[in-house]
Amino acid sequence: MKLLITGGAGYIGSIVARLLIEAGHEIVVLDNLERGHRAAVPGQAQLIVADLRNAAEVDHILQAGRYDGVLHFAALALVGESVTHPGRYYRNNVTGTLNLLEAMVAGAVPRLVFSSTCAVYGQPDEVPIAESAPPRPQNAYGASKLAADHLIGDFCAAHGIGAVSLRYFNVAGAHGHTGEDHEPETHLIPNILKVALGRSDAVEIFGTDYPTADGTAVRDYIHVDDLAQAHLLALGHVKAGERQVFNLGNGNGFSVREVIAAARRVTGHPIPVREAPRRPGDPPRLVAASARIREQLGWAAQKPALETMIADAWAFSQAHPHGYNRSASATSA
Ligand code: UDP
Repeated sequence: MKLLITGGAGYIGSIVARLLIEAGHEIVVLDNLERGHRAAVPGQAQLIVADLRNAAEVDHILQAGRYDGVLHFAALALVGESVTHPGRYYRNNVTGTLNLLEAMVAGAVPRLVFSSTCAVYGQPDEVPIAESAPPRPQNAYGASKLAADHLIGDFCAAHGIGAVSLRYFNVAGAHGHTGEDHEPETHLIPNILKVALGRSDAVEIFGTDYPTADGTAVRDYIHVDDLAQAHLLALGHVKAGERQVFNLGNGNGFSVREVIAAARRVTGHPIPVREAPRRPGDPPRLVAASARIREQLGWAAQKPALETMIADAWAFSQAHPHGYNRSASATSA
């Protein structure tokens, strides 16, 4: 298939692009490169530098490309930033998705796989969280992704698009030389690894008074390769006129302190910590019920161990200690 990957210069999009190329698909990446990296885009993919907030440009790209499907990763995805800058989140994540959907209709593109998030659930009544849990996002990031999900459902019903919305839990690890490089970096595992690399003196623990076993927040970590594989399965299960929703996690919860302990084992570094207040917008415990994706798409995690995810992220961090750009300039120097 000829597929457009929005956000294909980002962490997850660039890895999914690689797997799709290996599976024989023709890939075009659309990315504004605001947070993505040109160096992360696979060499076999065409890169279009464009912004989803520009409706006319997106319309033109979708009509000219004759795509069989779109995988939509492009979004802002930081909980803390969404609390302080909600406008940015609604404009990028909601308006961007609306522009994309209208362009898909104009360009007669039949399939969509959407990067949604467990942040749409907020703090659920029951954990593990099933797809039937009422969505009550606790921050503008989750709210913007939920709004995009609603848009997608309405466009599927009205225009016959088939969509799969994958609600990711916490993605971790790397795919060889493609990994996580955000600026600013706010995610737990990369921040821990910065300490192991000697680029930071301690990792902050945001909140030690949560109602969890050790007082720190619990998340469900999934290897980016397992997550990426789910996108290939989702593409094959799209049904015209329907939006299907799947949670995507391993079903195991790890506290911040447990993640730090695992990183100490993997890196051999003592990783000092500094206890800090809770981060606004963070729920105490998010763990996926992933029965639906296992049963309906036949998804199964190949790399469910937290140590494997941290070891792969650690290998990427050691190979790219300053991220893509600095390692690229170091190579050319
Ligand atoms: N966290 C932390 N220190 C950090 C970064 C994150 O204690 O330097 C906590 C954060 O408050 C949350 C968990 O680790 O409870 C996972 O955060 P992350 O930003 O990795 O993912 P999120 O769950 O926000 O998508």
